[in-house]
Amino acid sequence: MNDKKLLKPYLLVSSCLLGNNVRYDGKNCKIDYINLLENNFTIIPICPEFDVLGCPRNPIEINDNEVIDQNNNNYTILIKKKIASIINLCKENDIKYALLKEKSPTCGSHFIYDGTFSHKLIKGSGLLVKELKKLHIQIFNEDEVLKLLNI
Ligand code: SF4
Repeated sequence: MNDKKLLKPYLLVSSCLLGNNVRYDGKNCKIDYINLLENNFTIIPICPEFDVLGCPRNPIEINDNEVIDQNNNNYTILIKKKIASIINLCKENDIKYALLKEKSPTCGSHFIYDGTFSHKLIKGSGLLVKELKKLHIQIFNEDEVLKLLNI
């Protein structure tokens, strides 16, 4: 990935936003403007949850810093391991931007579900976002695509 001739900056993107069927229910949340994003960035799709759990899978939420499903299965270690590999990728390639799906326990940047599986949102960040912020990566959600295109 370290092609010196590459002029477009890297952009880490939640794979579900690109139209890939990686959500817990086997669906996606495809956004508009993907062509424009591809014109301006070298896109790196990521989906830690799919990589660890596949799909369809039980929805997961964060409760007391642990990643659990409704049956109280705990995936914290596996998800954190996957996130660590993404963080290494970001460091190795000096990634500065990310476009990530809001409300996800992994990718959410402003809101996540409260961990009780009752559809209640709280202010907070997903586990991946918390780590990306430590690298000072600029994070945008699906409602901020135009803002991202104007940087
Ligand atoms: Fe995967 Fe993130 Fe999309 Fe969830 S929000 S399906 S973890 S890419």
